[in-house]
Amino acid sequence: ETVAIRTLDKNYFVKVGNGAMDGLAPFLKENFPALTSLLVITDETVGRLYLQELENRLEGQQLHVKVVPSGEEAKTFDVYYGCLSFALEKKLDRKSLILAFGGGAVGDLAGFVAATFMRGIPFIQIPTTILAHDSAVGGKVAINHPLGKNMIGAFHQPEAVFYDLRYLETLPQSERRSGFAEAIKHALIKDAEFYEWLLDNVTRLDAIQDSILEGLLVKGIRIKGDIVEKDEKELGVRAFLNFGHTLGHAIEGECGYGRITHGEAVLIGMLFALKLSKEILGLSFDSSGFRDWIEKLGYKSAIPEGVSADNLLQRMKQDKKSTGGKVMFVLLKETGSPVKMEISDELLLSRLNEFQRRGSV
Ligand code: NAD
Ligand code: ZN
Repeated sequence: ETVAIRTLDKNYFVKVGNGAMDGLAPFLKENFPALTSLLVITDETVGRLYLQELENRLEGQQLHVKVVPSGEEAKTFDVYYGCLSFALEKKLDRKSLILAFGGGAVGDLAGFVAATFMRGIPFIQIPTTILAHDSAVGGKVAINHPLGKNMIGAFHQPEAVFYDLRYLETLPQSERRSGFAEAIKHALIKDAEFYEWLLDNVTRLDAIQDSILEGLLVKGIRIKGDIVEKDEKELGVRAFLNFGHTLGHAIEGECGYGRITHGEAVLIGMLFALKLSKEILGLSFDSSGFRDWIEKLGYKSAIPEGVSADNLLQRMKQDKKSTGGKVMFVLLKETGSPVKMEISDELLLSRLNEFQRRGSV
């Protein structure tokens, strides 16, 4: 299936499905006839599994490959600098193109290299994780700073996204959970029916039927695309995509990146946001049904042991989505209709403590 994404900057498509990658070489030939060279940025894991195959597909092109560490370690200033040096050494120019081949970490890094090398060259996203159905669309690219995640970045839309679901077969279980959490998020903020459909159709993550997986990823991509179309630079509705992320990012930071996946942390953040939504906005939602479902899928529904509420609050205040030290939360009035609200420190602290004591909502 093909999903069209329209932004002020650029229109492009996301090709989704088994075999989507067959479209890459023809796309390059047609749209970049004067291409001087291609730089593939991939990580160690994806490189080991799939680089050979990619190289075979691109036979005849001037190809350079930069392999970076797997996971969040790809998004450091050193790795970024290394990519720029490599690009300069290999004499990439404005007629070159970067291929981001991997999960969200590689996509964010490679996209940021593309955004800043010679003031910006084109790039293509080739996502290989479930999570990347989210990160590969929308043009946000970034690396981390020790003082904060995604603090150095840009908006740079890809030329196209080739999302071949065959790559997902090798994805570890925890990474499946991480990515699927963003699909749950897309449903909760935009589409109550989609949420019900997920509840009924997804009962395990190790063996989701191909047709169901493709369906839910396409749906998630459409929702993300719609929001980005309305608000490319996050002045309004794009902020709703942060549902679950205010607390999620803080948990990730407190646990240390790598000890809990992004999506697993966001899922706990969503549970907490649902709790606040019920209390503050009178949301009607079957939380215990939700909790049972996600626990069956292997998610944790509580803040990890040893993480203090005070530290979480401090982190939420430092988040770049907070302004003037005020913590903003995305809450739900109803399933599918989010609002953005400031939540006071006192209320947050008390509800966090409660949430921790009871283990869940
Ligand atoms: P990731 O890129 O770190 O991939 C997770 C792990 O899976 C890595 O160890 C990777 O090597 C491995 N992997 C990737 N593909 C594989 C495959 N096919 N088979 C086996 N292993 C594979 O992480 P992610 O979860 O894809 O993305 C998380 C990142 O995305 C975070 O840095 C987050 O900030 C970013 N993100 C960005 C946006 C955005 O809009 N730009 C949105 C959401 C998340
Ligand atoms: Zn996320």
